[in-house]
Amino acid sequence: MSSAIVVGAGPNGLAAAVTLAQRGMDVTVLEASDTIGGGTRSSERILPGLLHDDGAAVHPIGLASPFFRSLDLAAHGLEWAWSDIDLAHPLDGGRAGAMVASLDETVRLLGRDGGRWRALFGPLADSFDELAQEVLRPMVHVPRHLVPLARFGPAALLPATALGRIWRTDEAAALFAGNAAHGWHPLNRPTTSAFGLMFAAISHRYGWPVVKGGSARLTDALASVFTELGGCIETGHRVRSLTELPPADVVMLDLEPGAVADLAGDALPARVRKAYRRFRRAPAAFKVDFAVEGGLPWRDEYSSRAGTVHVCGSAAEVAAAEHDITRGRMPERPFVLVAQQYLADPQRSVGDVHPVYTYAHVPHGYTGDATEHIIAQLERFAPGTRERIIGAHARTPRALADHNPNLVGGDIIGGANTPLQLLMRPRVSTDPYYTGIPGVYICSASTPPGAGVHGMCGHNAALSALRRTERAG
Ligand SMILES: Cc1cc2nc3c(=O)[nH]c(=O)nc-3n(C[C@H](O)[C@H](O)[C@H](O)COP(=O)(O)OP(=O)(O)OC[C@H]3O[C@@H](n4cnc5c(N)ncnc54)[C@H](O)[C@@H]3O)c2cc1C
Repeated sequence: MSSAIVVGAGPNGLAAAVTLAQRGMDVTVLEASDTIGGGTRSSERILPGLLHDDGAAVHPIGLASPFFRSLDLAAHGLEWAWSDIDLAHPLDGGRAGAMVASLDETVRLLGRDGGRWRALFGPLADSFDELAQEVLRPMVHVPRHLVPLARFGPAALLPATALGRIWRTDEAAALFAGNAAHGWHPLNRPTTSAFGLMFAAISHRYGWPVVKGGSARLTDALASVFTELGGCIETGHRVRSLTELPPADVVMLDLEPGAVADLAGDALPARVRKAYRRFRRAPAAFKVDFAVEGGLPWRDEYSSRAGTVHVCGSAAEVAAAEHDITRGRMPERPFVLVAQQYLADPQRSVGDVHPVYTYAHVPHGYTGDATEHIIAQLERFAPGTRERIIGAHARTPRALADHNPNLVGGDIIGGANTPLQLLMRPRVSTDPYYTGIPGVYICSASTPPGAGVHGMCGHNAALSALRRTERAG
């Protein structure tokens, strides 16, 4: 029986491990931390019983993932839950945009921009599954779904500020800009529309669910599939060099490119090492979890029913904040993502005290304290927030990286979404998973299709390894 070692038990490491084990390989996963899951862990940090997600919170891409859908994760304990409203985006003066899973309802809520919203996102949502098969993989391939790709591609290449000119209302413009900000890249740069398009299309196809009982349950379910296939996971095992690994036919590294270069040393071909060292990092997250009595006192009518709230104000403010952080400047009013998972999953709360998840987009490696920036943005749209906070737990960019070494400088998306890195990561290659060392692959979110809890990087990397192994054998 051939064997494989996977370094890192994040969603991509586990997805690679499951894919290899499904093909009959003897697979061992080595995880540095005492718990598996990487960016999907959950914990009770402030009060006993009050459940926070340490990393990923909301999982539209997880639900849509072709690989996760191919597994019976429900039989292994995974349950999705949705709030009434997928996304709210409050504006000054008590107004807000709202996006719900129903396209018809969103169109109704958006009034004057409803028709345009339907024209842009309806066809993408209808063909989302075909589109996902084209974009959740390396960009260099022979496409099989030309129509959805032709609908998505040209618009996706545009800067979000350019495509955003179609909106006539502040609400639709802000919703689109907030979704585009998931690219963590200046909205006036090419390809940032891709995020604005994907996140709305996916809402109208699958909604934006959370995982009942915390995001950790998703990777627990993957681990359960893996161990049922005979796989073995060792936690508390940090790998420092490839030379310390037992002999294996395949080695999968669920690591960021710099760490792969460190572990591989001189074994890595010089051109690959150079590319990994040059890999560009994204801005950082500054994460604060709050315990909030009675929940946030939102001024508008939608935010208190929304699983995710984008807090920054107008589309122009979102663009300015994203521009600043990529220039290394901390904005006075940063883009803040708020998740209220307890609305869909009430068991995360303790009585009337609710876990509120926030992170601000801040410059890469930011060393200041953004807690007050976050509270000020919340106060702006939910006045009275401060008095309701009974506990808080902050993670600086540095603390995020200490918790998970893949999050270099607080970059939670596995590398900057520059147009080149969006199309080809972690280096320009027809097989981006292969490191150039026979049998050794990189499978983290720094490979296609990039960040998010979908397991597709791991699954694709494992398929690449299997193809090469079969060819060699
Ligand atoms: C704060 C935050 C919020 C996010 N929000 C969302 C969200 O709402 N929705 C979404 O879809 N995605 C979200 N993401 C992104 C998502 O979590 C990541 O893209 C995803 O976890 C990447 O998976 P991965 O397997 O590539 O790496 P990771 O999840 O980073 O896992 C890598 C694993 O490797 C281990 N490791 C590292 N070095 C070593 C070593 N030398 N030896 C052994 N083990 C090692 C780490 O401990 C870790 O467990 C968020 C991430 C963060 C941090």
